[in-house]
Amino acid sequence: MIPAEFSYVRPTSIEEAAQAAGQPGAKVIAGGQSLLPLMKLRLARPSTIVDIGRIPGLSGTHYLPDGGVEMGALTTYAQVIAETQLEWTREALSNVGDVQVRNRGTLGGSIAHADPASDAPAIALALDYSAVLRSPRGERVVPLDGFFTGPFTTTAADDEILVALRRPPLPDGVGGAYEKLAQPASGYAMVGVAVVIGRSEIVGKPMAMLLLAQHATVTICHSRTVDLAEYARRADVLVAAVGRRGLVTPDMVKPGATVIDVGVNRTDEGKLVGDVDPACFEVAGLMTPVPGGVGPLTIAMLLKNTVAAAEARYTAA
Ligand SMILES: Cc1cc2nc3c(=O)[nH]c(=O)nc-3n(C[C@H](O)[C@H](O)[C@H](O)COP(=O)(O)OP(=O)(O)OC[C@H]3O[C@@H](n4cnc5c(N)ncnc54)[C@H](O)[C@@H]3O)c2cc1C
Repeated sequence: MIPAEFSYVRPTSIEEAAQAAGQPGAKVIAGGQSLLPLMKLRLARPSTIVDIGRIPGLSGTHYLPDGGVEMGALTTYAQVIAETQLEWTREALSNVGDVQVRNRGTLGGSIAHADPASDAPAIALALDYSAVLRSPRGERVVPLDGFFTGPFTTTAADDEILVALRRPPLPDGVGGAYEKLAQPASGYAMVGVAVVIGRSEIVGKPMAMLLLAQHATVTICHSRTVDLAEYARRADVLVAAVGRRGLVTPDMVKPGATVIDVGVNRTDEGKLVGDVDPACFEVAGLMTPVPGGVGPLTIAMLLKNTVAAAEARYTAA
């Protein structure tokens, strides 16, 4: 079908775009891969199309000083696939639509559209992305966990332009996965689930800071903690990093909790064991073994840092 009549404006700045988008009946268009099909079906009938596609500076991946990442709202799927360092994200987005959709469709468009069957929103949510919105009232940064208010609805006002998506740094050793049960004809997700799992070797205070950054309620126990078991039993994620064999026993683990054993101890026979009694495997939902858990990850990260240090030295020379 042919869309209903509309007028067309192509602003050259975000300020101009926000002004135009705030007018009654106006609608922003980026790659057009969702809006145009809706207009052709006359499910959307904007009186004015505000084409933000040629506003400079809204595209590409930028690495932030704190190690975080910012992606411009006009970054296309094809660009994200080429630029991301996360293998699982690359694989997931390579299955979105077809070549044309990936070349035209933008990350910002997918997030702003808030289609629950889309792939990017689940992935961006799992990676803790925030939406950077700009309007005549200024800029605000909204965590995506709170940005989506329901299918096809967000907290963004009509005159707020999504200019970028920003995420905090990921600790080394973080992995992720995305799985979708795709509708066979369209490829859209009937169910899409993304999970990020952190298994950093960093312990003590730095570990507490990392967990705090993920909005966890953190309790640090130590040698003077009275009734350690009481605190341990409350934890959904229990990290043991003391260096005392058998410190954590099954009665201290909440059923189904995730237990990360960072302890390194030797038995009298020289066998390597952790801080957590292996019987806790029966109670925990997930548990890292010793040996074979945090240890190999530590070695991998040390090697990675050694290579990075060597590269930095030879590049500087
Ligand atoms: C044939 C086909 C197959 C597809 N298959 C898949 C699939 O398998 N998986 C999947 O996830 N998606 C799929 N899609 C959807 C596609 O990925 C999204 O529609 C696209 O990424 C949206 O981005 P866009 O730039 O095209 O947005 P547009 O269509 O331009 O805009 C979508 C909506 O977002 C708003 N908007 C866009 N950018 C901004 C901004 N910067 N600020 C504020 N508001 C904005 C618009 O006003 C509009 O309401 C498919 C689409 C087609 C046509």
